[in-house]
Amino acid sequence: MIDEIIKKISEKSGTDEKKVRLLIEEKVEELSGLISKEGAAHIVAKELGVDIIEKPERKDYRLNIGSIVPGMRSVDVVGKVSYISPVREFKTNNATGCVASIYLVDETGSIRLSLWNDETAALDKVDTGDTIRVQGYVKDNRGVPELRLGRYGKIMKTDEKINVDIGSGRTYERKNISELTIGMRAEVRATLVQIFETKPVFKVCPVCGKSVKKEGDEWVCKEHGKQEPKPVLLFSGVMDDGTGNIRVVGFRENAEKIFGMKASEAENKDIKELIKNIPVGREYLFCGRVKKNDLFDRLEFMTDQIKDVVVLDEINKLMG
Ligand SMILES: [Zn+2]
Repeated sequence: MIDEIIKKISEKSGTDEKKVRLLIEEKVEELSGLISKEGAAHIVAKELGVDIIEKPERKDYRLNIGSIVPGMRSVDVVGKVSYISPVREFKTNNATGCVASIYLVDETGSIRLSLWNDETAALDKVDTGDTIRVQGYVKDNRGVPELRLGRYGKIMKTDEKINVDIGSGRTYERKNISELTIGMRAEVRATLVQIFETKPVFKVCPVCGKSVKKEGDEWVCKEHGKQEPKPVLLFSGVMDDGTGNIRVVGFRENAEKIFGMKASEAENKDIKELIKNIPVGREYLFCGRVKKNDLFDRLEFMTDQIKDVVVLDEINKLMG
């Protein structure tokens, strides 16, 4: 141990090893033997102006994702890309644009980085599984912190290590419902056994996708003001695969697949009429994430994608 330290001090300070050893012995003597050789070595190192303490891998600037809170004006974060959303286009009275999200994880948590308009060009250089460094600021998205680049923001690839397994990126591992746990990304082959008669269409701001409030005759987004809202379809039901059942929820194109129509068509229809057409009892492949619904204290499966069961694929899966 002491030999390694001596070697390190010698290398870093350019002082001969013998000389370092001598300095350490002198130091022990000077302190009347009250200090170990290792302790003395640290003092000697300091006196020679070198740092022999192993630096943690984590760089100083790096902020834990788990400690990011809304409103931080300037953050410098490193995370592994766990998911990249498709680019979504939007149109408002005075502008058109697009938005996409990159989800970042580190050992302490996860956060969404939303990219607006020109910023989405960064997606060409970023892939799931990459580790990136982001300099930006933090917005408050209904109490949830969300990273933004802003005018001076930057995205850079980095070699820093993030000890988090993000699984196989955009693919989902096949699981039984009985195996699902909070936070898991999974593909479940299950039968849609029930659909709830909840209002399936809600209105969102075309710019940010958040829900809008009706004020008089107008729809208003908290952030973007008066907007012509866009209808979004939602389905909520129960799926069962024989090992168990779980609430399943899906939005947009996933709900449109289940309802068999676009949100704009569904908008003026009665829920009972809509549900009548749903193929309850049909099997699908549901890809998504398991979330906890705190309000009802239960698990929910949030669908990212719904696929039809392809019999041949299933046979291949069984054959391994
Ligand atoms: Zn908005």
